[in-house]
Amino acid sequence: MPDTTAVAVPALFISDVHLAEDRPQTTAAFLDFLAGQARAARSLFILGDLFEYWAGDDDVDAPFNQHICAALRALSASGTTVFFMTGNRDLLAGEGYARAAGLVLLPDPALIRLGEQRVLLSHGDALCTDDIAYQTYRSQVRDPAWQAGFLAQPLEARKAFIERLRTQSEAAKREKAMTIMDVNHAAVETLLRTRGYPTLIHGHTHRPATHQHRVDGHPCERRVLADWHDHATWLAFDGEKFTVHEPPGTATRA
Ligand code: MN
Repeated sequence: MPDTTAVAVPALFISDVHLAEDRPQTTAAFLDFLAGQARAARSLFILGDLFEYWAGDDDVDAPFNQHICAALRALSASGTTVFFMTGNRDLLAGEGYARAAGLVLLPDPALIRLGEQRVLLSHGDALCTDDIAYQTYRSQVRDPAWQAGFLAQPLEARKAFIERLRTQSEAAKREKAMTIMDVNHAAVETLLRTRGYPTLIHGHTHRPATHQHRVDGHPCERRVLADWHDHATWLAFDGEKFTVHEPPGTATRA
């Protein structure tokens, strides 16, 4: 999407829904959101990790994935444009999935115009540069040759590989210091500088907050989206201001 194209508002922003067959409450919350609040928006931005994992676009025929696809298509058909950027979990979701679900694919990062503001959208994992092991893994799995080799394997073999990886990743996360799994401030500032000091919206870290950065004298807001955990949560822009919609039971933030 060109920088000069203003996004139709109201616009909603979500990330880290982590849809999986064994998380029925999250699935129900997501389907309710698509059939409910999202209908009143003109644009919905999904900033990665919509799925807990994605083994390849040939998995789109699985009943669970078909169900989600149909709900996303119905939202598009109702008049809400749905934009999608992959995260680290659903990195392999590509044009096949976007076509099936009626999504507009976005690169990471993607610059948009929201009212008078320039806003940069990103999943956020590229900013976690303190986690060297993760960044090494990230470079590998984003390499087109690695992806082609992986996608050439049978679907069941890919799913088994991802299951092993998820187990290892959970174990590794428990041993890592919390600070190295957050964004690196120098990486954030470099990104904001190279993109002309926009507002930044990202997910991935599961640490929802609004941060105020000052880069080279320019004030830049950074909004971190919450993950879903059984309840819907989103950031809304109504043409003038942002509002955070929290899951029940959490404190209200500006
Ligand atoms: Mn992520």
